[in-house]
Amino acid sequence: MPRIDALETGSSTQRNGLNHQAIEDYLKTIYSLAETETPVNTSRIAEARQVKPGSVTSMLQRLAKLNLVHYEKHYGVTLTDAGEKIALEVIRRHRLLELFLIEALGFSWDEVHEQADVLEHVISEKLEERIADVLGHPAFDPHGDPIPDKDGAMLTIPSQSLTALAVGETAQVARITDDANSEMLRYLGSLGLIPGSTVTILTVAPFEGPLTINIEGQEKIVGYAVAKAVLVTPA
Ligand SMILES: [Zn+2]
Repeated sequence: MPRIDALETGSSTQRNGLNHQAIEDYLKTIYSLAETETPVNTSRIAEARQVKPGSVTSMLQRLAKLNLVHYEKHYGVTLTDAGEKIALEVIRRHRLLELFLIEALGFSWDEVHEQADVLEHVISEKLEERIADVLGHPAFDPHGDPIPDKDGAMLTIPSQSLTALAVGETAQVARITDDANSEMLRYLGSLGLIPGSTVTILTVAPFEGPLTINIEGQEKIVGYAVAKAVLVTPA
């Protein structure tokens, strides 16, 4: 797969004043925001990356010059084929690293996202492939997110948020949304809301109130925001 290195001519870390990490992080953000709504507008990117809309705009103009995105001010942004390839490559490295850190190095599932966010920009293709070999070419990461293969192909499993289920419905936890932070993951782990768990909705309080959920045979009360981060598939 093409890597960002392939785009570079001069220095190994800079091109047009942009470094790898910034380019890869933006492409990754645009890719994941486009999963819910595309084209992606500047304010959503600014919110996701916690930067000012003005700096997003100038970044998008630079990415457009590199032919990594299509960008029009009042329309929004979409990834070009080249931009999408790089985004999927970074996502592959991130998710493989998360699984590797848990399986091989004994990290817990709430610790690995931050580590992977740094390492995803620096590991070589050789190391990436060795990790994939050692893990047996897994299709999912520890949070239930699909891992793209070397060609960028990725299994997508239709899922919906736990909050979309009706009272009495049973489902299986498929994945935790990527915006769940370590604290949230620890809490979800303590509730038993992890990929593979079976859940049944017992009661739902109105106005985005808490849900009572049977999680693997135990009755638990779960806040709305927490339940929203949990994606499920029919059991
Ligand atoms: Zn992650």
